[in-house]
Amino acid sequence: MIFIFGYHPITKRIGPTEERECANCHNSKHWLLHKRTYFISVFFIPLIPTRQEYFVSCPVCNFREELIREDFKDMAPLAQLNREAVERDMSEEEYNRRLEQL
Ligand SMILES: [Zn+2]
Repeated sequence: MIFIFGYHPITKRIGPTEERECANCHNSKHWLLHKRTYFISVFFIPLIPTRQEYFVSCPVCNFREELIREDFKDMAPLAQLNREAVERDMSEEEYNRRLEQL
C-alpha cells in the first residue's frame, strides 16, 4: 500500500486590525491579521498540526510582519470583531458596545 505524505500550511485570515502605515508601499490601511498552521497530511488531507505562525499583512501590497503568539492573542479579538462588522450589517451601537467589552 502506498501512502502519500505531505507538509503544507493552511492560512486563516482572522480580520482587519488597527490602521497603520506600510513600510513598503506607504499606504495607511487596516492591516490583516493571520494565523498559519503547518500540517502533515496524508493523501492531501491535513491531519497533524505541527507549528503555527502569526503575522499581519498590508492589504495593498501584502508586505507582512511576523508576530509573536502573545501579540497575536492581544490583537485577535479586535480583528474578529472587525471581520464580523465587515461581513454583516452591524450597527455602530453594537460595534461600540462590543468594542468596550474587549
Ligand atoms: Zn503595503
